[in-house]
Amino acid sequence: MMANESSSSSFVIIGGNERKIALEQQRHPCPRCHHAASVQLTRCETQLVILNKTIGKPNNMRVRYECYECHWRDQQLPDE
Ligand SMILES: [Zn+2]
Repeated sequence: MMANESSSSSFVIIGGNERKIALEQQRHPCPRCHHAASVQLTRCETQLVILNKTIGKPNNMRVRYECYECHWRDQQLPDE
């Protein structure tokens, strides 16, 4: 989204970009929506954005399992 002059009261100064990277080819069944192979180990990087410039290196990096069907996410898969 671009911030422009249309609304001076809602000018966004600080935001974040989230980047997601799949860390493995293997897919896992989802414990919530029971899709057979929708969960992947994913690394999320959040980058600070100020005045449409990306500042510094990615921070707030975390690795977790995410389902692309129902958006379930957790630090680890539940035990079988
Ligand atoms: Zn799911």
